[in-house]
Amino acid sequence: MNQFPFPGREACLEELRRDRLYDRIPAGDRDRILHDAWTRGEAAAARYLPQGVPIREVLERAGFRIVREDRDQVLGNTRYFAEFREKSGRITLYTGSIRLWCNHNQVPYGTGEALILAHEYFHCLERQVLPSPREVYTLPLFQIGPWRFGQCGLTCVSEIGAHAFSAAYGQRLQSPENL
Ligand SMILES: [Zn+2]
Repeated sequence: MNQFPFPGREACLEELRRDRLYDRIPAGDRDRILHDAWTRGEAAAARYLPQGVPIREVLERAGFRIVREDRDQVLGNTRYFAEFREKSGRITLYTGSIRLWCNHNQVPYGTGEALILAHEYFHCLERQVLPSPREVYTLPLFQIGPWRFGQCGLTCVSEIGAHAFSAAYGQRLQSPENL
């Protein structure tokens, strides 16, 4: 079973290790990837999360509609907390999954839901306005001897960014005067 989401910065090393291309990343590059991916998420939060506006309102202003389905959504060995359909502007929250996460982490349900919405919103911003994760790091698609062909990005750069974005929002939640 996939673990519950939203590790802090240190735990994001795990996210990096889980990347399917991890073995190809030179050891000397790992700290920089972690740092730059996290910073990318924090910078996006500073720019795209207006102070004092709850995430639900940010999403509504951006034209999204939030719906809730009361179930623990597990497919294969992954638990899903939300599904974002960009085209229809619909975000489905799986309240059963979220409740489990909240109980596990001892956070109030409303907080958990807000953190998950922030995480998903980051992925949406990535598709719409943020610089590509490839600006953080790429690996050659193939390498044959000294020749390198094409380039590919790392999935973990997106995930670490989303964790940082959500963490930045979570910090604001801790000072209610900000929201
Ligand atoms: Zn994600």
